[in-house]
This record gives sequence, C-alpha cells and structure tokens, in this order.
Amino acid sequence: MAPDETVVLVGGGGREHAIARALADDCTLYACASNRNPGVARLADRVELLDETDPEAVVAFAEEVGATLAVVGPEAPLAAGVVDALEDAGVYAFGPRAEQARIETDKAYQRRFMRDHDIPGCPDFETFDDTEAACEYIDAYDGDLAVKPAGLTGGKGVRVTGDQVTKAEAKEYLREADHDRVVLEERLVGEEFTVQAFVADGEFRVSPAVQDHKRAYEGDEGPNTGGMGSYTDAGFLLPFLTDEDFDEATRVVEATVDALDDYRGVLYGQFMLTADGVKVIEFNARFGDPEAMNTLPVLDTPFLDVLTAARDGESLPDLTFAARATVCKYAVPEGYPEDPAGGERVSVDEASVHPAQLFYASVDDRDDGIYTTTSRSFAVVGVAESIAAAEQQAESALAALGDGLRVRHDVGTEALVQRRIDHVAELRS
Ligand code: AMP
Repeated sequence: MAPDETVVLVGGGGREHAIARALADDCTLYACASNRNPGVARLADRVELLDETDPEAVVAFAEEVGATLAVVGPEAPLAAGVVDALEDAGVYAFGPRAEQARIETDKAYQRRFMRDHDIPGCPDFETFDDTEAACEYIDAYDGDLAVKPAGLTGGKGVRVTGDQVTKAEAKEYLREADHDRVVLEERLVGEEFTVQAFVADGEFRVSPAVQDHKRAYEGDEGPNTGGMGSYTDAGFLLPFLTDEDFDEATRVVEATVDALDDYRGVLYGQFMLTADGVKVIEFNARFGDPEAMNTLPVLDTPFLDVLTAARDGESLPDLTFAARATVCKYAVPEGYPEDPAGGERVSVDEASVHPAQLFYASVDDRDDGIYTTTSRSFAVVGVAESIAAAEQQAESALAALGDGLRVRHDVGTEALVQRRIDHVAELRS
C-alpha cells in the first residue's frame, strides 16, 4: 500500500509500541512523547521528545510533519486537550476530546453519566467532595466498598475494603491523600475482563475480551499496578465467559456509545462478571496498557483502515481477528509499584524473543544502553493456538531479558486460568 497517510502517534509506552507496530507498514509514522521508546523509534520516521500533555507542542509537531491523522495513546494527553487542539488545527485525531474523555478522567462524572443515561451494569455509588463526609459514609455502610479518587491515578488509586484493606485503613488513606472528590461504591465480587471498542460517528466495533492482572504479585497479592500482564483466548471469549456475558458487555458499550455525544476513539470497558451479571468497573477513553498488546497483534484488519474510515465519515470496517490466543507478561523494575528501583541498565537479547513479540514500555533509550524508569519496562507477548501455548512462548521469551526486573510468571498459566474458571462456576452456582 502506498504510504499516503502521515500519522502522528502520541505516547511512548508499551501500548504505543503496539499501536506503532499495527500502523507502521501502512503509513508514514511519526511519534512524539515524553520518553524515547526504542521500539517506537525503530518503527517511526522520527520521534520528537516533547511534553505529550502540551497541546501546543503536539500540534506544532503534527503541523511540521504534515500529519493527516493522529492517534493519542495515553489518557494524560486526552485530559490535557491534545485532541481538541489537533482538531482545531485541522488534524483528525482518533481519540476523544477532553470533555468526552471525562468518562475516564472523572470517575464521579462517569458514574453519574451511567445513572443519568440508564446504562446497565452500574454499581450503587455515592460521590463526595468532603473527606470527612466520605469517612462517615464508610463507617455507616453495611458491607465492603471500593474507594476511588475521582481523578486519574494511573490505575493505582482505588482501595477496596475487605480481606486486604480495612475500613480504618481506607479512611486513613482518604485523610492522608485528601482528594478533591471521591467515589464510594459497592464492592463487586467476581472476575474482571476488558472489552475495547473502536468508536466513531455513533458506530462501534468490539475487540476480543482480555483479562488483565492488576495486582503486583503472583497469586493476585499486593498493591494494584498499571497491569502486570493479560491474556486473550482464540476468539472473542475468555475461558470463563459465555456468549451471553460478552453480549451483555457489548450492550453496555452500545448504550454508552449512544449516550455519549459523538465520541470517537477507543472506548475501553472494564467489567466484573458477578453473580448478578456483568457490572462496570470503569470506562477508559483509550486502549488499555497491556490490553492493546493482546488485541492489536491479532487484528488482521489494518488499523489504518479504521482510522481513515473514522476520519472520512465512512462506516467503520468490520474487524477480523486471527483466531489466536495471546499472553502478555510485563517485566517491571524491582520494587514496582511502591518503591521502584529504576535507573538501571538492562539488556534485551531481541533475537531470542522470537516467536514472541517484544514491546518496549517506560524505558529510556540512552547512548550507552536501555535504562529502566520507575514504571513498567518491557512486555513480551506470546501469540499461539491456545492460551497454554502462548504462555509458554511468553515464558521462553522472558529468558531474553536481563536481571533486575520482576515478572508475574503466573499470568496465563493453566493453574491461574483454571482458578478463574472455578471462581465463575462458584459464582454461577
Ligand atoms: P479502576 O481504577 O476503577 O479500574 O479500579 C482499579 C481496580 O480496583 C479494578 O481493577 C478493580 O480490581 C478494583 N475495583 C474498582 N472498583 C471496584 C468495585 N466496585 N468493586 C470491587 N473492586 C473494584
């Protein structure tokens, strides 16, 4: 295909490396981000180091390279109005304007939006501007609660009371952090899964369901992270999901797309399959990281076709996904997320990663090598006929990463997947 589109990709993490790989063969690709991701750098004609949350800087770069399209990966630039600025400058960006991105960036707005529009799957919730009032509510509430700062926290701000966090600890957390606004909602019990949809002009197309692993340590122990790894099965379902569950999640996406005013970009629904059906944990206004690394490598439809259709006001193409399972495992600095080491030089033997795929994330590509930051470093993704085979592939690839990094080796293993299946069987019984 003649590369007659010039795409600017905003962001420099693992998700953006996956987006770059999905686009690079079909267009001229430029990227801009606050860090230099070596994987993106290899695929792009140029990477501009800039503050990716500075709309003017992004627009200036897009204009300089003659961008015909832009894709915004992370949430922070969306919240900062990068899409608004690109649009005002005449560059079509696949991503929501800041106002529409509030579905992710303001959890209080998100819950009220769900309630006001009768979107199915909304848990009981209350919002608070006053920390002491929230603490009183926690005391008075009969049952466990999810305690959520309303603003962006990189997936690490939520505390769920129960076996790991007491109500007293949740209150202490609120008093110490003193967030402007918090959401308190009923604790949902079940299995989590993600469905990402491409959305434009009131239309949407869903991708296969993914299960991420938020907890830092094996066996789902430890604090929440940005995500330690994730898997998909060969097809749209996960081993614990039925067609009916997936349809229920799809109906939530549909109702949300209908209620949103001309949303465009990726709408990411994070769901909990509970004894009472599918509930919404949250919406994100962009691809998940790691989830993009599961679904984009098996998307056979060129991602560029989705972007051009959205820009040109055409119907979105029907998506075709290869019938392959994927397992993604993140390697993170020792101590992540609480006290990450970072700043260490790491070696990657790229040649020996094959047939798994390697995605660079928050690493710094310096003259004398690749250094870790305080966030997630690399991901490897196995793509194979079954989850078990993809898991094996990912594990073999991890041998290519040097020391100083930590991995949740249990992601995608037969034992952990079986635990999910048993858990859901118990919920349904
Ligand atoms: P969020 O930032 O909303 O994605 O929340 C982070 C994590 O907190 C989720 O992945 C869930 O594991 C957990 N969580 C959020 N809301 C709830 C809830 N209502 N009940 C139980 N767990 C929740």
